[in-house]
Amino acid sequence: MTDPTRLTLAEARDALVSKSLSAVELTDAYIGAIEAARSLNGFVTETPEIARKMAANSDATLARGEGGPLEGIPLGIKDLYCTKGVTTTAGSRILRDFVPPYESTVSSQLWRDGAVMLGKLNLDEFAMGSSNETSHFGPVTSPWRKPGQNAALVPGGSSGGSAAAVAARLCLGATATDTGGSIRQPAAFTGTVGIKPTYGRCSRYGVVAFASSLDQAGPIARNVRDTAILMRSMAGYDPKDATSVDVPVPNYETSVGSSVKGKTIGIPKEYRIEGMPAEIEALWHQGIAWLRDAGATIVDVSLPHTKYALPAYYIVAPAEASSNLARYDGVRYGLRVPGRDIGDMYGQTRAAGFGKEVRRRIMIGTYVLSAGYYDAYYVKAQKIRTLIKRDFETVYAAGVDALLTPATPSAAFAVGEKGSGDPVEMYLNDVFTVTVNMAGLPGIAVPGGSSADGLPLGLQLIGRPFDEETLFSLAEVIEQAAPKVHLPDAWWAA
Ligand code: GLN
Repeated sequence: MTDPTRLTLAEARDALVSKSLSAVELTDAYIGAIEAARSLNGFVTETPEIARKMAANSDATLARGEGGPLEGIPLGIKDLYCTKGVTTTAGSRILRDFVPPYESTVSSQLWRDGAVMLGKLNLDEFAMGSSNETSHFGPVTSPWRKPGQNAALVPGGSSGGSAAAVAARLCLGATATDTGGSIRQPAAFTGTVGIKPTYGRCSRYGVVAFASSLDQAGPIARNVRDTAILMRSMAGYDPKDATSVDVPVPNYETSVGSSVKGKTIGIPKEYRIEGMPAEIEALWHQGIAWLRDAGATIVDVSLPHTKYALPAYYIVAPAEASSNLARYDGVRYGLRVPGRDIGDMYGQTRAAGFGKEVRRRIMIGTYVLSAGYYDAYYVKAQKIRTLIKRDFETVYAAGVDALLTPATPSAAFAVGEKGSGDPVEMYLNDVFTVTVNMAGLPGIAVPGGSSADGLPLGLQLIGRPFDEETLFSLAEVIEQAAPKVHLPDAWWAA
């Protein structure tokens, strides 16, 4: 048969059920692809033995005519999800040798449903970044390149390993997390689909915390249907996460292909930011036209506090991070660098264990939470957050079903191109995505076209709380209308 890594997740699932393909064959094809793609640096840890064992189990289950919705489907796991007995690093030196004694709820649900673990995917350290360049394990190279050029491009971040692995066909889908855009931005940069579910939809239990009130788990996959399939297994109430919400999980796949006639789509004027490249503006107009052609009603809306979202995010997120990362002190687990006394040991451990961006966030976070500045920065940012949330509530109350915006202000950039002098240059990448986290809403990124350089560009749809179904149906309309994404061929293959 032809290369099984070319199948979509839905196609592979059907081939497994009809036994035209075995889980072991499929898994072996992926293990081979991963070994040949080490130059991309997408995986921090490969787990081929575990994968083969899980695949053999799936074949036995399928032979009995049984199996879960993901039976025999090989996946990659962002290395922020704790996996029992398998090193979980969060992209950091401080957790380089950490082997969790427990499994995250989301990954356990994937295994419950029959999925096969290929390994752990690279990411920005503690998910702080937009390019995967802050990883202790080095940057991930995108499988995309500008035509005729060899310069390494970033796959986006922080879920850069997830997006690169999906786009390079090193797994059928991947878990990711999104605190300010880390699922949607890398999906947009790599021509893949990524959804950040509503806050509380997927359990955060066992996912290494960055900013707890913003973090959400979600999938990245090669198309809308595959993303919907993964989402169903990842979502669900978990009593181990106090912010998990007990609402039923729909079969998202049935939304894919359902009509969007009569849906009202808001176009927020504040997203027309100064200096927005013409090709992003054109992509947005194209997306509006596609949804209108599919029978949706397009309305202009205003989200007046949008311009404060990015600065407020870069106060709230570091504040929570500084608190969450206080646990890495060399005492209970992770790296320990001995010192003169316990205080010195803490200092030595944290100085050696955390990279530059993480240290910067801890310092910003500690500063904005300090007695003298708490009201001026942290409390103010929280007030802005409430206003941002209210902006969305107002447009939804007026009958808007979802909003359409660009996913990112540009296509992927080169490794080393941004943020080395001024970190804010990198933070500006998140301008279209952070509002969604601040408001706790679901957002999906779907490929909509290409840049003048032939790189993927993504559109973002933002939904009502717990209405991911509408996002899947709208995203599929865009996917069908947009030029087909031709994922890059394996120039990287060793
Ligand atoms: N790029 C953003 C940041 O650096 C968002 C990261 C994320 O969503 N994890 O904070």
